[in-house]
Amino acid sequence: MIQTVFDILSIRKDFPILNRKVNGYPLVYLDNAATSQTPKKVIDTIVDYYSNYNANIHRGVHSLSQEATDVYEQARQKIQRHFNAARPQEIIFTSGTTHGINLVANGFTSLLEKGDEIIVSALEHHSNIVPWQMLCERTGAVLKVIPMNLEGQLVMGEYHKLLSQRTKLVFCNHVSNALGTINPIEEIIAAAHKVGAAVLIDGAQAAPHIKADVQKLDVDFYVVSAHKMCGPTGVGMLYGKEEWLNKLPPYQGGGEMIAEVTFEKTTYAELPHKFEAGTPNICGGIAFGAALDYMNAIGFDAIAQYEQELLEYATQELLAIDGLKIYGDTKEKTAVISFNIEGLHPYDIGSILDKLGVAVRTGHHCAQPIMDFYKIPGTVRASFSFYNTKEEVDILVSSVRRAKTMLL
Ligand code: PLP
Repeated sequence: MIQTVFDILSIRKDFPILNRKVNGYPLVYLDNAATSQTPKKVIDTIVDYYSNYNANIHRGVHSLSQEATDVYEQARQKIQRHFNAARPQEIIFTSGTTHGINLVANGFTSLLEKGDEIIVSALEHHSNIVPWQMLCERTGAVLKVIPMNLEGQLVMGEYHKLLSQRTKLVFCNHVSNALGTINPIEEIIAAAHKVGAAVLIDGAQAAPHIKADVQKLDVDFYVVSAHKMCGPTGVGMLYGKEEWLNKLPPYQGGGEMIAEVTFEKTTYAELPHKFEAGTPNICGGIAFGAALDYMNAIGFDAIAQYEQELLEYATQELLAIDGLKIYGDTKEKTAVISFNIEGLHPYDIGSILDKLGVAVRTGHHCAQPIMDFYKIPGTVRASFSFYNTKEEVDILVSSVRRAKTMLL
């Protein structure tokens, strides 16, 4: 029984897109792990910015520029408060999670030596694998992998064995995008720190569901994308401890990130501007702040409770379908269900679901090593948000049954 911890009908009214039809059917949007939908408050913030105070920031003497600068910097403070960073200068605006990871990976080029080791988890998105492989190519560092088990959990005993004085960096996602597993990041961070290694946590899939406290976690870097948490695309944040951000060199050169430029020598701006070369996504940053306001007004505890109830119900109903197998069988997971039906290709199931108005993801979910582990080409992934309903779960389940009948 799903207990409504908030007024779901009123929440759904906040999202104009949920009213549309797809292929003649009411949209059932279950691809939230790829991108979440945008509430009217965030859309209004974007319209307000372009209608009333669109201007370049940080360098204008005129009123519009100052207004835009103030609101943009207020958004940074909202993000700081949300993730409980100690200072606003520890929040770097990025274009998203991928940008944040590449910024850190690039910065470590000058800090690593041949033979140093960096540890990645088997549950990563390609964004949290490839930049580190490129770092290894540049530096001669060696990449080690924390293995996973059939339940979709990390084998923590193996992680502890991999750690040594040679370990310089550990990176892991807070939540797996392909399976929804919530990783034991507290243990990962504490153990890495014991050997003096820095830790980057990819919070892309956690941030829409879990309010991370970066000081409590004692994490060195934490990265997210706004578009997965009711914000716009093309903006995200990198949290970095001030001492680490001061150690890393700038990622890109250009305007905004300098203190003084001559042809002989350039000095760099203080944090956070050192990492924010060029005109940023001003409107995106401001709208990211509005998205956090929106989600916090609902409350992350209520969101988590409701989504867990949806997850339990959907899991139970899907498992009642003959031949359906769910990947990632762990209690600690967010509302993501990755599944296959024996004898069917995930793409075919996804295509029929789309014809019935149900949007799911199919494929390897940018996590090919996980698919290789299970020896499958991909899965169908239904990922839920707080604006989804029990009725939508029922539509998913009946549509999957229909797809099975049509395809088998
Ligand atoms: N990391 C994880 C766990 C993700 O799920 C994603 C996107 O799905 C990314 C990183 C990349 O995020 P973005 O494309 O917003 O940079």
